[in-house]
Amino acid sequence: MFSAVNNALITGINGQDGTYLAELLLQKGYTVTGTYRKSTTPVFWRLQERGLLNAPGLTLTELDLTDLGGCIRTVTEAEPQVIFNLAAQSFVGLSFREPVLTANANGLGAMNLLEAIRIVNPEIRFYQASSSEMFGSTGGGCPHTENSVIHPRSPYAVSKLFAHWTTINYRESYGLYSCCGILFNHESPLRSKDFVTRKISSAVAEIHLGKREYLALGNLNVSRDWGYAPEYVGAMEKMMNLLAPEDFVVATGKSSTLRNFVEQAFASIDCRILWRGEGLEEKGFDADTGKERVRIDPAFFRPCDVDCVLGDASKARRILDWEPKSDLETLCRTMVATDIRRVQQGFAY
Ligand code: NAP
Repeated sequence: MFSAVNNALITGINGQDGTYLAELLLQKGYTVTGTYRKSTTPVFWRLQERGLLNAPGLTLTELDLTDLGGCIRTVTEAEPQVIFNLAAQSFVGLSFREPVLTANANGLGAMNLLEAIRIVNPEIRFYQASSSEMFGSTGGGCPHTENSVIHPRSPYAVSKLFAHWTTINYRESYGLYSCCGILFNHESPLRSKDFVTRKISSAVAEIHLGKREYLALGNLNVSRDWGYAPEYVGAMEKMMNLLAPEDFVVATGKSSTLRNFVEQAFASIDCRILWRGEGLEEKGFDADTGKERVRIDPAFFRPCDVDCVLGDASKARRILDWEPKSDLETLCRTMVATDIRRVQQGFAY
């Protein structure tokens, strides 16, 4: 095992995975520099909730990945042995509305960091947050492994594919220790409300507390391979500690529909959902009270969706000794319970 690592740089520390990864690395004795994007009033609610905001060993610094000079400066000043590139415009839906911004941040952003490594210190190890969205429409080739056919179906997926192959290309061309974790969906109470799972858990919490009546969603029949984010950052850390860099799929190997996620989330507040109607007219009702709790809104349909999201993480199991532990029911229960507590405390995020 590679054991000299003790100084890590995490881009996107203000996000879900950045927060959990920082927590894990600090527990393991790393010092961590985390980058966040400048805004008028930066909000560090995730770091705050996890008790990390002023944690010893953690330094925060501003960086926009689209700025090559900033990447070089940050890598020079932080002197990391490992860089985890987690920063991204990570919302697939938004990538259809802001494709150029998505390509710049996710695609060229990764290349900027790799260039910074080449210029500052080629010994630095690099982790790229690749995504199962890259597989997109694969004509039935499911579940996906590291070698599956790739056919991205959104500007987000295309941008991630650029970063993915750039990471591999820098490994092959310049001998960098650069590798990609191809992560399938992973959720947690730290997800942003832009994402459907947290949108559901926060709405179910509000319905439970009598603060709203119903929840509007898009296509209930999409399936995803949903895991638990704190477990997935463990796989990232393991990938950076091999003798040689390799790419890994990280997934649960189980796929569930959004409909099932909704049912599990309501079940955690003892509400059984009965579905009536079809297509855009379908609605979900509380089986006990008959109140409408779920309706369909075409505004939430994607222009183009992926057809199979199911990962095969046998390589990670074999080489990294990594495997997922939580199931969907526990994930839904944890997310809804956290959101109930947050709503009670008047928490805004
Ligand atoms: P997240 O919560 O959206 O965090 C991403 C972070 O990147 C945000 O804090 C965001 O900053 C920052 N960012 C966006 N554009 C940036 C830019 N131009 N320069 C610097 N920072 C920028 O995402 P996540 O769920 O933690 O995911 C981490 C990474 O894994 C992302 O690259 C994502 O695409 C990838 N991934 C995630 C999943 C998943 O299911 N979660 C699956 C596969 C891959 P602001 O807070 O300022 O917006």
